[in-house]
Amino acid sequence: KFGNVGFIGLGMMGSRMVNNLIKARYRVAVHDINYDVMKMFADRGVPTRETPFEIAESSDVVITMLPSSSHVFDVYTGKNGLLHGGNFLRPWLLIDSSTIDPQTSRKLSAIVSNCTLKGKKDDQRSPVMLDAPVSGGVLAAECGTLTFMVGGLEEAYLEAKQLLLSMGKNTIYCGGTANGSAAKICNNLAMAVSMLGVSEALALGQSLGITASTLTRVFNSSSARCWSSDTYNPVPGVMDCVPSSRNYEGGFASKLMAKDLSLAAASAKEVDLKCPLTFQAQEIYLELCKEGHEAKDFSSVFRHYYGGSDE
Ligand code: NAD
Repeated sequence: KFGNVGFIGLGMMGSRMVNNLIKARYRVAVHDINYDVMKMFADRGVPTRETPFEIAESSDVVITMLPSSSHVFDVYTGKNGLLHGGNFLRPWLLIDSSTIDPQTSRKLSAIVSNCTLKGKKDDQRSPVMLDAPVSGGVLAAECGTLTFMVGGLEEAYLEAKQLLLSMGKNTIYCGGTANGSAAKICNNLAMAVSMLGVSEALALGQSLGITASTLTRVFNSSSARCWSSDTYNPVPGVMDCVPSSRNYEGGFASKLMAKDLSLAAASAKEVDLKCPLTFQAQEIYLELCKEGHEAKDFSSVFRHYYGGSDE
């Protein structure tokens, strides 16, 4: 169905997603503004294109994996962007997997749907956009175990499912346009607040004389159990193979969490919902970044705000 896949944004996530598409035998052409990474792909025999528009011209479906809303907007609507020239698009499906605000997803989806049909042949389908951000970090992108949360037309989602499953292990249809983007920022908001709650409780426990390991065992067999306590514990030494046990290296950078919380805060303002924890969590992560820890995993909030004594 999607013999020719165009992929834009070959960073930490995108480059690994492309590798899995190639493994699944899709014909992939790629574009990035970083020439070094383009060269790496070209050296491996992967076709590269100079502009998003050239990607659009040669693809049945285009996937974008870009840093933020403004980048995605530019790649779609800018000079030599995917929609350049207003002619009928060759790809009928555009999938954005970047984490961006639902407002931008909605706006772009409307622009795509309103694309002029100049040059449309009878057998060509009208273009559709899906927002399909992912959960799971760089390792999940590498292993092809991402979860895609998808918003947009359900029939387009069903047609894209197999393609998405070549890069992930799970797809969840979240409803109409922008619901994928909304699901992603809500997921990360809940993850940030639970990480802060677990960190604060473990720090208080330690100050009251309980070791973090013992308190974690209590949490994990009681009502405080959650992903931040039983899978991604923030206290060094409590669990192996998590960022807290390797000086908070790798994992999900605090700057990405700060970005996602900014998106949640902007959305809360937009719908006029109070969300006090969203704003508090955003402030904490922005501060963490300002203090120079933007590249450390987001569980490093334990060390910086709660004393952080090791076991
Ligand atoms: P990254 O910064 O490593 O990669 C982004 C890539 O986009 C870079 O190669 C950059 O050169 C390219 N780019 C920027 N502007 C461009 C443009 N105008 N045209 C073409 N290419 C352009 O980012 P990442 O870590 O791969 O994340 C990508 C998206 O995935 C982000 O929205 C992020 O929030 C989301 N995400 C990241 C993770 C993670 O753990 N890294 C996890 C889940 C979701």
